[in-house]
Amino acid sequence: MSAEPVGFVGVGRMGGPMTQRLLKAGYRLCVYDVSRDAMAEAERGGAAVLASPAAVADAAETVFLSLPNPNIVQAVATGTQGLIEGKRVKRVVDFSTIGPRTAKIVAESLGGRDIAYIDAPVSGGLKGAREGTLAVMVSCPKPVYAHVEDILKTFGKPFHLGEGAGQAQVMKLANNLLAAAAMAVSSEAMVMGVKAGLDPKVMLDVINSSTGRNSATQDKFPRSVLPGTFDFGFAIGLSYKDVRLCIDEAESMGVPMVVGAAVRQMLAVTQALYGADSDFTSICRVIETWADAEVRSPR
Ligand code: NAD
Repeated sequence: MSAEPVGFVGVGRMGGPMTQRLLKAGYRLCVYDVSRDAMAEAERGGAAVLASPAAVADAAETVFLSLPNPNIVQAVATGTQGLIEGKRVKRVVDFSTIGPRTAKIVAESLGGRDIAYIDAPVSGGLKGAREGTLAVMVSCPKPVYAHVEDILKTFGKPFHLGEGAGQAQVMKLANNLLAAAAMAVSSEAMVMGVKAGLDPKVMLDVINSSTGRNSATQDKFPRSVLPGTFDFGFAIGLSYKDVRLCIDEAESMGVPMVVGAAVRQMLAVTQALYGADSDFTSICRVIETWADAEVRSPR
């Protein structure tokens, strides 16, 4: 059991199970979240709940973040009652997907107070967060990485991608563009097959033994589309944010993303129809509605 507590701000769908892994590994934990329900859940799990990000940064040298978007990360890290006001904090490990620009801004502000920013977005979804099998994409100076590498293994497999804040974000945006594209185009293919009379379960068996297999056909369709539960655990608003950040970044670098732009519009349509909190797998519902065919099969 470690005497020194670690801090965690943002204990939602990802942060919640990630804090459970820290507690199971024997770390003492203090947390903050704006949601009372999320705080109550963390307290039941054994974490101490505190009143603000600054209070967490007063209590812990290492503070983890898992927050929804760039503006919230910036406010929590550098705003009033933010981590930057904490007396004890030495390093902030940010698991949120916020894009390279905000990562650089936050790293610079925290650096002005001798607080290291560790850019560390993750991939692997709720299952990965629960089971400790996330890919953790990290960019920060090597000595800082050496300090956090072991604790990052609590969550999965860390990859050190470079020294500069933002590099890990670029890696994460590239991955999430691919995941969203796979979900969108797999929905089109699956709806076409079902409308032609194919069994969706058999279709997935064939695709997953063939060249079309991807993370949507292997995981998202069997788990959340075929049973009609649409509960994979990743909100459409978050996926839309990721693809927007990706395309904006690519454009600013002179990298055209014609296919990516179509994926971005599919996410915009899904969010408009089902709301930002609806599940990412709801993309398939849009195509189903347009085509008047449903991709369903009992488990
Ligand atoms: P979530 O909305 O479930 O969790 C975010 C938490 O942050 C919530 O509990 C919310 O109450 C809290 N929060 C919001 N504003 C806050 C503030 N000002 N101060 C303190 N807490 C605040 O989202 P999530 O799905 O857990 O995703 C978190 C991050 O991880 C996002 O950046 C997302 O893109 C990324 N991510 C998510 C997944 C996934 O599968 N869900 C996978 C990889 C990465």
